[in-house]
Amino acid sequence: MKFCVDTDKRNSWYIGTDNFDTMMINKIESVMFQGNGYLGIRGVSEERQLGERRDMFVAGTFDAFPGEVTELPNLPDLVNMEIKIDKESLSLNDGSIEDYHKYLNLKNGELTRTFDWIINDKRINFRFSRFVSMRDKHLFVSKVEISSDQNNLNIQIRSGIDGQQSNSETQHMIEGNKRLYDGQYIQLMSETQQSHIKFAFNVKNDAYIDGILLNMKPYINMGRRQIFCNYDLNLNTDQKFTLIKYANVYTSIDRNNANSDLSTLSLERLKYNSLSNYDELLQKSTKSWLKNVWQKDYVKIDSDDIKPQVAINFARYQLVASTPDDNRMNIGAKGLTGEGYKGHTFWDTEIFMLPYYIYANPAVAQKLLAYRYLGLTGAHKKAQKNNYQGAQFPWEAAWPEDGETAPLYGSADIITGEAMKIWSGFIEQHITSDIVISVMEYLNATNDQEFAKNMGYEIILDAAKFWVSRLEYDEDRDRYEITNVIGPDEYKEHVNNNAFTNYTAKWCIQKAIKIFNTLKENYPDIYVHLNEKMNLKETYNEWIDKVNKIYLPRPNVDGVIPQDDQYLSKRIIDLSRYQTNNQVSDIFKSYNLTQIDGMQITKQADVLLLLNLFGDRFDEKIKRINWNYYEPKTTHDSSLSLSTHAMMASDLRLNKEAYEFYEKACEIDLGTHIGKASQGLHLAACGGIWNATVKGFGGLKVVNNKLSLDPNLPANWQQLQYQIHWHNSLVKVSIDHSKMIVGVTDGDLEFISHGQTYRVIDGKTVELDYVVEKS
Ligand code: BGC
Ligand code: BGC
Repeated sequence: MKFCVDTDKRNSWYIGTDNFDTMMINKIESVMFQGNGYLGIRGVSEERQLGERRDMFVAGTFDAFPGEVTELPNLPDLVNMEIKIDKESLSLNDGSIEDYHKYLNLKNGELTRTFDWIINDKRINFRFSRFVSMRDKHLFVSKVEISSDQNNLNIQIRSGIDGQQSNSETQHMIEGNKRLYDGQYIQLMSETQQSHIKFAFNVKNDAYIDGILLNMKPYINMGRRQIFCNYDLNLNTDQKFTLIKYANVYTSIDRNNANSDLSTLSLERLKYNSLSNYDELLQKSTKSWLKNVWQKDYVKIDSDDIKPQVAINFARYQLVASTPDDNRMNIGAKGLTGEGYKGHTFWDTEIFMLPYYIYANPAVAQKLLAYRYLGLTGAHKKAQKNNYQGAQFPWEAAWPEDGETAPLYGSADIITGEAMKIWSGFIEQHITSDIVISVMEYLNATNDQEFAKNMGYEIILDAAKFWVSRLEYDEDRDRYEITNVIGPDEYKEHVNNNAFTNYTAKWCIQKAIKIFNTLKENYPDIYVHLNEKMNLKETYNEWIDKVNKIYLPRPNVDGVIPQDDQYLSKRIIDLSRYQTNNQVSDIFKSYNLTQIDGMQITKQADVLLLLNLFGDRFDEKIKRINWNYYEPKTTHDSSLSLSTHAMMASDLRLNKEAYEFYEKACEIDLGTHIGKASQGLHLAACGGIWNATVKGFGGLKVVNNKLSLDPNLPANWQQLQYQIHWHNSLVKVSIDHSKMIVGVTDGDLEFISHGQTYRVIDGKTVELDYVVEKS
């Protein structure tokens, strides 16, 4: 594995770099992202830099610029500090830099940057450190320390709130009040221009020399949407200057303070927080990371190579840093880490990220699924608009009631020169099944009856109601089809009977039939309620009439499951040069989408994802045949592809390929490619790293609703240990090349391994010989 950051042999929570490389700044900003699920800040430098992407977001605060779809606004900048040394502005492009070192501590999200700036024969040492608090989600604390080899060095610092930010030049914020309180607290009130979400931003700076708080009032200046504190002082060689910046953000959609006076509340909170120093506040935040995240979640890889452990630490850190603790919000495809995909939520959450939460922290998974329950309003809207019934979930989702938020047009076609219509919001419909798949996985793993009764069943029934209204009857063949869709492979638009879509739609209806009967028999109250709400009885009759006539593309004579009706008759080309993983969408430099549509080229796992998610329904031979058929035709242009292939290869015991895909999956964001991740991280790929580690090599599966453990430990790993939640109990799995030990606390456990059932009593472990059977 090759990473764009350095790692430390002894500390798998460290990622850093000793190079200030202007080509890599956007990538490093993404990779060194800091967040707590509420507030997210890219790893930009404090001073401005050419080509930077200074983004700060608060989850869920969507706003739409006229004529555009809703997006997360880039908020006023709290990170910025402009520093002048003897009137010379600090800029890493001027003078020279020595001992540059920037690093992120993945355990608590503290970002540190140190260097010597040599300018006009003076050497000035800088140390910047900062964190977004996990304890108080509104709080951001930053510190700069400066010393030099000069006497009487003049330092000027401007530190405040800079609302002159935009989303690629789109301005979302209307300026409100700007004020100074008590001579030292500055405040900017602001509001989004269309959604009218109110914001309060506050900053207080404390300046010290040699640890002694300076009794100096900052000079305040203001500009449009800007308010700053300015300091001007002189420093001697033996002295150290420190500035601590306390900052916070509150909004009118925050759960707990909807009716408060934001200005007063936020100011009071900042006053309280600034009574503590940087280290005290960091310590509290570190404790929250430990308690809320790392003590619940455990994955340990013993290998001579530390990179897999770094990758899984990174993946979990980034997922948590972008996951809101509010069921009206969800994780964006790029989390809070950049403007890409506008903060929208895709199937990425359900299929690629949720497994991590379902097994590592089910309470969070429940909230993320509750978002889809709230999203039923938006899903009904979308179905009605398209003349369907039930819940047609949006391909791209923002605020739950909004419904579809996918943009209508993308970049220009290289051949026609015209803007390409984005069809996903109209015809990429498998998202509705993906949500059901995830609800079922959650229910299987947690047995959370409350969620099932209050939300889960309704989501599934409503989804099935959509699907049955979506089916098209083919009289000649007396079967139901689903035509004109995009499957997971987005390189094929307007296809008929995409295997993934048809199989999963049928499966949703089958699940709904079972649930209908369970409710009717066991929970008559819920049945009556839902029947009234959704006209269930009538829908049920339709399910029964149609379900067995839904057309499923079966394996052909060679055992290949046709991806869709048209796919197998298309031209085959040699794709190997586009599969190198160095360049995303390299294929578009040679062909446009219409041409790609005419060839057997697949963007990402499609049939193979079906075989991976429904592994217990297809035999090994079919899996192998389809692997051999589809993998060579897949460009892996989506970051969602590699982890699925790693898992699939591991299941097929193609160990070399499995590890190669695993390494590539770990490199999606952390790798050396400059362009990838520069606009934000791939949160689904982060989920994918966990999936490939725990589900892939760790062998965690659910077979016939039962926990199954058939690991396949990579040859170069000595041991893999992980911890998961299963039905309210905590299961610890430890695998080396001679044995697998499974322990359980907080309940008894039954699991399957190699077809045999084992029982473990609460507090005990079982030890099994480690055997890897051929798949
Ligand atoms: C993605 C689609 C998405 C569209 C607009 C494309 O790059 O592949 O899934 O809907 O962008 O956001
Ligand atoms: C992929 C989609 C994915 C989207 C957001 C696209 O490139 O093809 O499957 O949902 O990106 O990550």
